[in-house]
Amino acid sequence: MSDAVNFDALDVAAQAEVVVVGGGPGGLCAAVAAAEEGADTLLVERYGFLGGMATAGLVNPFMTWHAGGRPIIRGLFERILDRLDAEGGWSGPRQGSAFDAELLKLVADDLCREAGVRLRLHTLLAAVDATDGRVRRIATAGKSGLQAVAGEIFVDGTGDGDLAAWAGADVRLGRDEDGLSQPMTLCFRMLGVNLDAIPPRAEVSALYDAARERGEIDNPRENVLFFFTTHDHEVHFNTTRIVKRDATDAEEMTEAELEARRQVRQMVRFLIAEVPGFEGAWLQEMAPQIGVRESRRVMGDYVLTTEDVLAARKFDDGIARGSYAVDIHNPAGTGTVIKRLPPGEAYDIPYRCLTPAGFDNLLIAARCVSCDHGAHSSLRVMPIVMAIGEAAGVAAQMALAAGDVRGIDVAALRARLVERGASIYGLSRDE
Ligand SMILES: Cc1cc2nc3c(=O)[nH]c(=O)nc-3n(C[C@H](O)[C@H](O)[C@H](O)COP(=O)(O)OP(=O)(O)OC[C@H]3O[C@@H](n4cnc5c(N)ncnc54)[C@H](O)[C@@H]3O)c2cc1C
Repeated sequence: MSDAVNFDALDVAAQAEVVVVGGGPGGLCAAVAAAEEGADTLLVERYGFLGGMATAGLVNPFMTWHAGGRPIIRGLFERILDRLDAEGGWSGPRQGSAFDAELLKLVADDLCREAGVRLRLHTLLAAVDATDGRVRRIATAGKSGLQAVAGEIFVDGTGDGDLAAWAGADVRLGRDEDGLSQPMTLCFRMLGVNLDAIPPRAEVSALYDAARERGEIDNPRENVLFFFTTHDHEVHFNTTRIVKRDATDAEEMTEAELEARRQVRQMVRFLIAEVPGFEGAWLQEMAPQIGVRESRRVMGDYVLTTEDVLAARKFDDGIARGSYAVDIHNPAGTGTVIKRLPPGEAYDIPYRCLTPAGFDNLLIAARCVSCDHGAHSSLRVMPIVMAIGEAAGVAAQMALAAGDVRGIDVAALRARLVERGASIYGLSRDE
């Protein structure tokens, strides 16, 4: 990838101590944390707003951040919830933890501005210049053309691991047996719904089965997945299913978007015609981009396994925690496999999952941390990714002194995360 670009011919458009690429839940929290810790931080994002799947993918709600009734993800995630709540943009945990994506964009802007994060929006990472285990520069593409950005520590928050992959890191795509990733889903919302008239979920799914049998719907998903939102008369659907597509390939992403929109049209016609409560409803919005559950995973100094997750394993270098189930939507078609942790338990994500093997100045702050396909299906949810991001940001600032992400004192990182309000197993007051 770096060979395709003559970096020396590019203007250096920006330079920072910490360069975070990708402003989704992980990258946003990494950038804010790094800046709050005192690093001169630049956040590069391809869209004109932050939030990643939470905004551009219209993904909702926040999946669980509790174990045994206690919160196991706090810190920046909790601060984001508080800010959303203060603006009326969060339903609270008892109503399923729905949040308002538009307000999240504003909260993300505020957090960056207050922390002093320098933003570079409408800027796509296009290539990476890496030699001898160090990322030297990145090339970006956007309205200003091709430009270079220089930094000391680089943080990959792209979700897909673009930065790490193009730097030459060891990456895996999808499950081991055939390389297939979890399906993509284009989320959409219906407005003008009479919520009180919607039948129980099983009844909606029975109507859906009948429509599938009649050949009116050819979505391979086994049922209709929908959620209520922070607004009246509105229903959120996470129910299209696009299988066997590679989210790191532009042509396949194009096919996926087109196929997903076709499925949305079928679903909307079905809902209005068949499901009580939707008679007067309309398609309010399809997400700006199709939702990507899984793509690359970047192999690091430790690979978190499905067994680690299901055994709720703890690690001396744990920097974030998760309690969400192993949740694998069939990469090849119908069906979803869910395996839960023991009740009340949570697992640790070790710092070593954030450090790509063979790179000194690169950290991962996204769902693409080092893990297997099953562990990824658990840690990918937004609260966990935010906790990973916060840890990556603090670690990036600490790594500036040595210029090496392995040169930091991990015990000090964990202690600092606790001081910031994060929940770390064995250290936090609420443990
Ligand atoms: C359909 C679907 C349903 C889901 N349901 C839930 C749910 O109910 N609850 C839950 O908590 N989680 C859910 N998830 C998981 C969750 O949304 C994601 O795993 C999470 O958002 C990952 O965060 P991230 O920061 O790693 O990546 P993303 O959210 O993907 O953010 C990556 C960011 O990087 C930017 N970027 C990417 N490539 C580049 C590049 N080359 N240059 C510049 N910028 C780039 C993107 O624009 C984006 O802003 C769901 C996911 C999907 C797809």
